[in-house]
Amino acid sequence: MDKLKAIIRDIPDFPKKGIVFKDITTLLADARSFHRMIDLLAHRYVGEKIDQIVGIEARGFILGSALAYKLGTGITLVRKPGKLPYKTRSISYALEYGTDSLEIHEDAFSTGDRVIVADDLLATGGTMAAVVDLVSQCGATIHECAFMAELEFLNGREKLPDGKVYSLLKF
Ligand code: AMP
Repeated sequence: MDKLKAIIRDIPDFPKKGIVFKDITTLLADARSFHRMIDLLAHRYVGEKIDQIVGIEARGFILGSALAYKLGTGITLVRKPGKLPYKTRSISYALEYGTDSLEIHEDAFSTGDRVIVADDLLATGGTMAAVVDLVSQCGATIHECAFMAELEFLNGREKLPDGKVYSLLKF
């Protein structure tokens, strides 16, 4: 795990001063690390009844699609406004300044589908909390929220369903 953590690159003051950005592209680009990260995450869910992986645009698509392939499920995309072609349901959520929105196809799930929602990194938890809400409104049940990495000092998991958060690498 320490090797995987070490390969993630810190970029100070990106995208703005005071933020240390966790650059996961270095992990994704390294074949052994990428395989290991996906295998470790997928192993957690082998044998569970998972109907669908939900990937959050954009880095959540990378983790989400690799997980879906490994687990033999499909992947549902949660996208920024105006990107999905069919009828959508949307949710707005607060950012540090202003709000943002995400969308999903309204017919994405059958009632009771169990899903894993995947994103690259858990920071304040605002994005994932909104997606949990959106996915639940569409009739699916959250099995777990899965992340490559978590910034524990931001306490993002407090915004998410109790006991349904897993991150592989903790910072
Ligand atoms: P949040 O809603 O605060 O949990 O932020 C979630 C999204 O913002 C994730 O999809 C991350 O990709 C991105 N993000 C937030 N903070 C960071 C950071 N320090 N390093 C890398 N990505 C970040």
